Amino acid sequence: MIDFYENKSLKNKSKSELIQSLLLFKMIKNKTLFKVMSFLLILFIKIRFPFLKYIIKKTVYKQFCGGENIYQTKKSINNLQSNKINTSLDFVSENKKNIKDFQNYLKELKLMIQFAKQKKIDFIVIKISGIANNKFLEKINNNEILNKKETIRLKQIKSQVKEICVYAKNNEIKTLFDAEESWIQNTIDEIVMELMRECNIKGCWVYNTIQMYRWDRLAYLKNIINESKEKNFMLGIKLVRGAYLEKERNRAIKKQYECPIHKTKSETDRDFDTAIELIIKNIKNIYLFCGTHNEKSTKLLVDLMLKNKIQNNSKKIFFSQLYGMSDNISYALKEDNFNVAKYLPYGPIIESIPYLIRRLNENSSVSEHSKKELQLIYKEIKSRK
Ligand SMILES: Cc1cc2nc3c(=O)[nH]c(=O)nc-3n(C[C@H](O)[C@H](O)[C@H](O)COP(=O)(O)OP(=O)(O)OC[C@H]3O[C@@H](n4cnc5c(N)ncnc54)[C@H](O)[C@@H]3O)c2cc1C
Repeated sequence: MIDFYENKSLKNKSKSELIQSLLLFKMIKNKTLFKVMSFLLILFIKIRFPFLKYIIKKTVYKQFCGGENIYQTKKSINNLQSNKINTSLDFVSENKKNIKDFQNYLKELKLMIQFAKQKKIDFIVIKISGIANNKFLEKINNNEILNKKETIRLKQIKSQVKEICVYAKNNEIKTLFDAEESWIQNTIDEIVMELMRECNIKGCWVYNTIQMYRWDRLAYLKNIINESKEKNFMLGIKLVRGAYLEKERNRAIKKQYECPIHKTKSETDRDFDTAIELIIKNIKNIYLFCGTHNEKSTKLLVDLMLKNKIQNNSKKIFFSQLYGMSDNISYALKEDNFNVAKYLPYGPIIESIPYLIRRLNENSSVSEHSKKELQLIYKEIKSRK
C-alpha cells in the first residue's frame, strides 16, 4: 500500500530551505497574500525592477523552477537522480511572437536533447507556441484559408518539429508535446498525431497531451486509440487535467461560445479517471505519461497496474509531478519502483512568469495537495528541533 504521508525529499533540504518553502506555501494559501504575489509577478513584467526580480527569484521561482539556463538545472537533476527519479526538461518560453524568438527556441530544444543525452534524462518538453505565432496557430485551428506564404510557413513549422523529434529519437530521448489553449489545440493535435504515425512504429518517442477538463476529450481519446490500432502505431499519451481553466472560461464568456471546459471539478475528475481506465484497457497500443498531483487518480493507476499485472517499472507507464510540487507522491511511487519523471522547468525569470502564476493558482487556498505539502514540511521542521 502506497503511503503519501511521508516526504523523503524533505530530508535533503536544510532547515532554512524548509522554512522558506513553508512560508511560501503559507503565503499562497492566504487569499490576500496570494493576490499580492500575483500582482508583483504581473508588475515585474511591466517595470522589471531589479529588486522585484530578486524577490521572485528567491521565492516562487526557486520553488518551482530549476534555473535560469540549462546548466543551472544540474543541481536539481542530480538530486532527483540520486533518488532514481527521472526528469522532463522544460524550457519556459511563452507568448513569443517573432521569428528570432522561434529560432532561439528551436536552438534551445537541440541543446536540451544533447544535455539530456549527457545527463541520461529520458524526456524533453516541447510547446508548439514556442515555435510559431499563436494567431497563426489559431488561424490553422479555425480551418481558415491560408495564403501562399502561410502555406509555406506551415510546412516549415512541421518540418522543424519533425527534425527535432527525429534528432531526439536518434539520441533515445522522448518528446512530450504540451497541451495549450483550446483555440490552438486542434493545430497541435494534428501536427503531433502526424509525428506519432511516423516516429512511433517501434516503441514510443512522441507523446501528445490530453486535457481532461475538456468535455470532448474522452471521445477524442477513443478515436485516436482506434486509429492507432487500425494504422499500427503506438500512441504516446500525456494525461493531465488542464491548466488554463480561467482563461478558457473568460474567453468563452467574452466571445459568447460554449465553453469547452467541464462545469465542475468532479466532472473533470471523473473523465480523468475514466481516461486512465480506458488507457489501461488498451495498454497494448499506448504509452502513458500520467501528469497529476491528485492522490486518488494516482492510486487508481497504481491499482489498475497491479490488477492487470503490469510491472511497476514497465517502460509503458510514467508518473509525473511538477518540480516543487507533491514530492511526497513522486518519492513514494519511486520507493515502490514505479517510473517517475519530475517536470523541470527552467529559463529566464521574466519568461517563466505565466508558468509561475499558473502554479500559484493551483497551490492557492482551494488545493488539497498544497495543504498536504504544508503539513509535511511543518512535520519535517518540527522533527529537526
Ligand atoms: C507533469 C505535468 C505536466 C503537465 N502538462 C500540462 C500541459 O501540457 N498542459 C496543461 O494544460 N496542463 C499541464 N499540466 C498541469 C495540469 O493540467 C494541472 O493544472 C495540474 O496538474 C493540477 O491538476 P492535478 O491533476 O494535479 O490536481 P487536482 O488538484 O486534483 O486538479 C486541479 C485541476 O482540476 C481542474 N479543475 C479545477 N476546478 C475545476 C472546475 N471548477 N471545473 C472543472 N475543472 C476544474 C483543473 O484542470 C485544475 O488544474 C501538467 C501537470 C503535470 C503534473
